[in-house]
Amino acid sequence: MAGILFIISAPSGSGKSTLVSQVRSLVEGLDFSISYTTRAPRGSEEDGREYHFTTRSEFERMIAAGDFLEWAEVFGNYYGTAISALSHAKDVGKDLLLDIDVQGAVQVMKKLPEAVSIFILPPSPEILEMRLRNRSEAEHVTSETVIQSRLAEARHELKQMRDYKYALVNDVLDQAVSELRAIVLCERGVRDGVQAVASSCRTDAASPKLKAALSTFER
Ligand code: ADP
Ligand code: 5GP
Repeated sequence: MAGILFIISAPSGSGKSTLVSQVRSLVEGLDFSISYTTRAPRGSEEDGREYHFTTRSEFERMIAAGDFLEWAEVFGNYYGTAISALSHAKDVGKDLLLDIDVQGAVQVMKKLPEAVSIFILPPSPEILEMRLRNRSEAEHVTSETVIQSRLAEARHELKQMRDYKYALVNDVLDQAVSELRAIVLCERGVRDGVQAVASSCRTDAASPKLKAALSTFER
């Protein structure tokens, strides 16, 4: 059975990476696609763990070779999802999670309309700014220009939210983690037919089997 492809997008600093890593530790069978990027590693990031860090020329070679399911230029750097991430998840029988920006998400929605898209919002621009500043301080890379461009981009990205199937607000982390986990489990239920089977057993569905059994008691 083909796995489910989950697309997750959020304005930078909304807490998407934090949420995704917590959900992955709670839910089995979720593979994470490690993107390629031309941006420099941040803080404690390691090549091959958060991203495959690469050069512009290598990235452009991969575009020309047709290696990407999607790619986009975000904040002046290239980011892309390798097609091989899909086949790898399929081979190991896992669902796949993509953490990509709205431009990339639109490309994947067009190519793979069965993908399940989830948008994560910060509770407010003020809280988003605070999170961006806290993260920059923690990583010792405070740049006012970077923070301002990410805040401006957030307003732009929010306009795309209605193209996504689900949206959740990352206010209280535990609650957002529960919501994201519930979406994953619910979509698996739909895929496996669990929801349809459960619905067919509802009393108000009055299935032929139920009616037949009841009628035997009326004899
Ligand atoms: P993103 O991946 O969306 O760019 P991060 O996961 O790096 O964002 O989170 C940005 C900052 O916000 C980090 O310092 C993280 O610890 C913090 N953060 C994430 N979620 C929450 C939350 N629900 N409440 C408070 N702080 C949060
Ligand atoms: P960051 O530099 O903060 O890690 O990521 C910046 C933005 O790039 C985020 O919105 C993130 O979702 C997006 N991004 C990360 N990987 C990919 C990718 O493979 N493709 C696209 N289109 N966007 C990505």
